[in-house]
Amino acid sequence: MGILSGKIVLVTGGSRGIGEAIVLKFAELGADVAFTYQSSEEKANAVVAEAEKYGVRVKSYKSNAADYNEAETLINDVVTYFGKLDVLINNAGITKDTLMLRMSEEQWDQVMEVNLKSVFNLTKHALKPMMKQKAGSIINMSSVVGVFGNAGQANYAASKAGIIGFTKSIAKEVGSRNIRCNAIAPGFIETDMTHALTEDQKKAYIDNIPLKRLGTGEDVANACVYLGSDMSTYVSGQVISVCGALNT
Ligand code: NAP
Repeated sequence: MGILSGKIVLVTGGSRGIGEAIVLKFAELGADVAFTYQSSEEKANAVVAEAEKYGVRVKSYKSNAADYNEAETLINDVVTYFGKLDVLINNAGITKDTLMLRMSEEQWDQVMEVNLKSVFNLTKHALKPMMKQKAGSIINMSSVVGVFGNAGQANYAASKAGIIGFTKSIAKEVGSRNIRCNAIAPGFIETDMTHALTEDQKKAYIDNIPLKRLGTGEDVANACVYLGSDMSTYVSGQVISVCGALNT
């Protein structure tokens, strides 16, 4: 029996990177896992096969987190298939980095829709079953960039800062129903999102990180385990940084 046995978790963007690490860690610790992806079907099938090795139920869904109606259908499908929803992890996210003077309206809108509106979409529909159950844990993937800002990422930073305000508000709104809502602010984590960095850029970042390495998906997944498990039943409305003491 793992510490997540009996829990049903839904992870958005579980086909790659941090989301994939979360799916595998939750499965390893006994949770049944639903996860979404946008386009990488083959990758999603491989993650399902890997997670099923832990003997839990795993199902992937092709669902655009930025689409309100698809989010509603997804939550209904997950609750019908798995019977309930204990933990929602709003992890799906994208970057469209560029300096403000060059940023198009489309680059702004896409990032806000996939990173921030998705959190509204999924939370809005997940609250119904969670309120019925009188229990739930919602975990939203922010970023250190949402706390401190970053040149060339005004759209991304705004979306991640918005997630923090949303998280604290939801924690206050539904705390009386025993539903918790927290955010995680990862620093530099090695995934496809950060693979575009050159070796020189990586070295420059690592020089500034007190723990002297980039983070892994598993580092972030472990923080999700804490927030999704009953180890954190009195923790809500918080932002937990997983950043190797960068920006501390
Ligand atoms: P990633 O490797 O690029 O993976 C992104 C995941 O999100 C993929 O599974 C992708 O699905 C999915 N996705 C993208 N758009 C989607 C949509 N509209 N609907 C549903 N799923 C969608 O990213 P990552 O580095 O793991 O980042 C995960 C989260 O952590 C993001 O919110 C990111 O902002 C945040 N974060 C990352 C870092 C970092 O250093 N990596 C730091 C701070 C915060 P497909 O495979 O189908 O494309």
